[in-house]
Amino acid sequence: MTSRVALVTGGTGGIGTAICRRLALSGHRVATNYRNEEKARAWQAQLKAEGIDVAIAPGDVSTAEDAESMVRAVEALVGPVDILVNNAGITRDTTFHKMTSQQWNEVICTNLNSCFNVTRPVIEGMRARKWGRIIQISSINGQKGQYGQANYAAAKAGMHGFTISLAQENAKFGITVNTVSPGYIGTDMVMAVPEDVRNKIVAQIPTGRLGDPDEIAYAVSFFIPDEAGWITGANLSANGGQYMGW
Ligand code: NDP
Repeated sequence: MTSRVALVTGGTGGIGTAICRRLALSGHRVATNYRNEEKARAWQAQLKAEGIDVAIAPGDVSTAEDAESMVRAVEALVGPVDILVNNAGITRDTTFHKMTSQQWNEVICTNLNSCFNVTRPVIEGMRARKWGRIIQISSINGQKGQYGQANYAAAKAGMHGFTISLAQENAKFGITVNTVSPGYIGTDMVMAVPEDVRNKIVAQIPTGRLGDPDEIAYAVSFFIPDEAGWITGANLSANGGQYMGW
């Protein structure tokens, strides 16, 4: 496979680490953002010990200014971005009648506005070079809704609307834009859910287990090779069979 430059937002998290690792092992030059430098440097050193190099640049993706300066720093470190994985995300769960505007805004800004904030500074370069891959990490809960997650489900469903519009606008420029919608994966985000609730979730998954972060990384990698150039505007569910709709 041709070696490309990949930017994975939220690369230091559970799913992000697996995506960074898989893309680097496929021969790509990989970068991610961080908010806490000490934590990010320790993470980087851990991957380095596995023989994997990932460049890191500071930036909070929920603000346009930070995201743009992070993209410019990544370009200076590893070159213009060919592959963008919009993966950074958070939850602030509560039922809607108790939800504060802060809980709403934090989730929308981090999960959805970040797609604008990070994609906007890379898209013109991709169009000029006539090649690009943009992949959003959405969620099963953006497809089916989830009790206590009106903010998160709205943001994650919005990512797919973003995907299918961008896919249309950029298809003629060799850029594909797709979404991966994971089900429940055994990362810190899901392990923070109380055990009894988690057990009920697992009981609803036909495979009878949580997903592994590398199973999401594999789904992301599917969209990257030149042979995947005909696949754009797609939403790939990777959820152990828990939801089989769009
Ligand atoms: P983690 O909490 O493990 O990782 C989230 C990553 O996003 C961290 O690197 C975090 O950095 C980063 N991040 C959060 N907010 C910001 C911000 N404002 N600016 C920059 N970086 C930020 O989550 P997962 O790995 O589990 O999730 C990754 C993605 O997958 C998310 O979009 C999530 O919604 C989605 N997803 C996860 C599922 C799961 O079961 N785990 C299921 C479906 C979807 P920091 O260390 O600085 O906080």
